[in-house]
Amino acid sequence: MDAVEVIKRRLKEDRMADAPEGPEDIGEKTKRPREVAFMDVNLCFPCGKCPEFCPVACIEYLAPDSVDNRGLQPVQDRFQECIGCYICVEICALLTDYDAVRMYDVALVEEVTGVKIGDKKPAEYIPAQPYEEYFAEGGLYRHLGHGSRIREKMSAEERANLKTTG
Ligand code: SF4
Ligand code: SF4
Repeated sequence: MDAVEVIKRRLKEDRMADAPEGPEDIGEKTKRPREVAFMDVNLCFPCGKCPEFCPVACIEYLAPDSVDNRGLQPVQDRFQECIGCYICVEICALLTDYDAVRMYDVALVEEVTGVKIGDKKPAEYIPAQPYEEYFAEGGLYRHLGHGSRIREKMSAEERANLKTTG
């Protein structure tokens, strides 16, 4: 079993009652999530792993010059499409050295961004934004974000194995 499958299985065991089924089965958002993800764009390398495994394909590389002094731009998700599955959080925390992703309560995100988060993805494509001033370290709300739910439940050996098979 590869590292991403281990992460998905552990997440499934740990799933909150209102979290989506899957996440491996999901292709599109069907309900309003409880939390949505934001990457700390200053911590994101970007290694390119999390966009590959987001079950709704809502993580993208930011447009050129979105973040100053970066050649290859970091990734960010289109939070209006995020289903709150935690896959990107776990991948970044367990398979990389960056731990760049946190999950934020949707009510907070709506208040901060002024965007209503619905039960479906928006009809129009809305490009991801850095939101550095809110969700990066030193930003206003990073301390309110939730990190990995399964890292502490794994032994050091399991975590090391994940990195070598990821
Ligand atoms: S896994 Fe982490 S470092 Fe890699 S692209 Fe995603 S957020 Fe960036
Ligand atoms: S939590 Fe991460 S992987 Fe899951 S839908 Fe949101 S952006 Fe994609």
